[in-house]
Amino acid sequence: MKVLVVGGAGYIGSHTVRALRDVGHDPIIFDNLVTGHAAAVQRLGVPFVEGDLNHPVDIYRALNEHRVEAVMHFAAFCYVGESVRNPSKYYQNNVVGTIQLLEAMRSCAVKLCVFSSTCATYGVPTAPMLNESHPQRPINPYGWTKLMVEQMLVDYDHAYGMKYAALRYFNASGSSADGLLGEDHTPETHLIPLCLLVAKGVRDNLSIFGTDYDTFDGTCIRDFIHVEDLAEAHVRALDHLSGKGESLAINIGTGTGHSVREVVRCTEEVTGLPVHVVESPRRDGDAPVLVADATMARDVLNWRPKYTELKPIVETAWKWFQQCGHYPKA
Ligand code: UDP
Repeated sequence: MKVLVVGGAGYIGSHTVRALRDVGHDPIIFDNLVTGHAAAVQRLGVPFVEGDLNHPVDIYRALNEHRVEAVMHFAAFCYVGESVRNPSKYYQNNVVGTIQLLEAMRSCAVKLCVFSSTCATYGVPTAPMLNESHPQRPINPYGWTKLMVEQMLVDYDHAYGMKYAALRYFNASGSSADGLLGEDHTPETHLIPLCLLVAKGVRDNLSIFGTDYDTFDGTCIRDFIHVEDLAEAHVRALDHLSGKGESLAINIGTGTGHSVREVVRCTEEVTGLPVHVVESPRRDGDAPVLVADATMARDVLNWRPKYTELKPIVETAWKWFQQCGHYPKA
């Protein structure tokens, strides 16, 4: 299928472009290169449209010129903390931008959409593991933007027959096993890359945000899912929709949680280097524990993560950071 990958020059998008290409789909990258990387586009060697969701003409051009049959939508700002400080940026980009995209899809009769949602739509868990029927009560604007789009997808499906798969990711992490693609955010705020930057000596220390949570070691617990497993889930979700499967919202995680302190220790083990930490106050918008019940992904998409342990995930990320940790500037 011809698949427009919106945000395909970014971290998860680029890995998914590769996974689509590897199984014979024809991905086309659409990206404004604000946070995405021209060098990732070059490495992937697929058609590229430089455009912005807030310029609808760009989207129409991409959909029409490439005769797009399905869209995967990754283009969003994704920093929980920043979304609390600057919600306007998040609602404008993540919500308004998506309305423009869905409208363009509607008028170009593109009826399949795989959307990057998030476990941040659940808010504070009321159960040790989250399944898809857990109430969705986000505790930060980032989570709200994603939940609003999920609701739009439900309504567009009902009214216009646009089929969707909303993939509720847990914590995307790691890099492609061969080091071709990786995680390169500016600024970097995610836990695993920050630990690696401290190990490498690029940063002095890691602030642990909160050591008084009601967890076994007082720090937050997250479910780290390898980016190539996430990419594979997108391909399966697309196949599900194109095979006339029902629209769905589905968790993509490993089902195992690791605390912030465990990630620090694992980084030390993988790198053989110390990760100096500073115990710091809680960060606004953080839920104490987010761990997936990924039964539905297994049953409906026949998807299982290949990376089920933290260490190999950190190893792939370390490989990327040892090489350089950044894409060359175009
Ligand atoms: N975290 C931390 N120090 C940092 C960055 C993150 O203690 O410098 C914690 C953060 O509070 C959260 C976990 O690590 O509990 C994962 O955060 P990240 O930003 O990587 O992903 P999120 O869960 O917010 O999507």
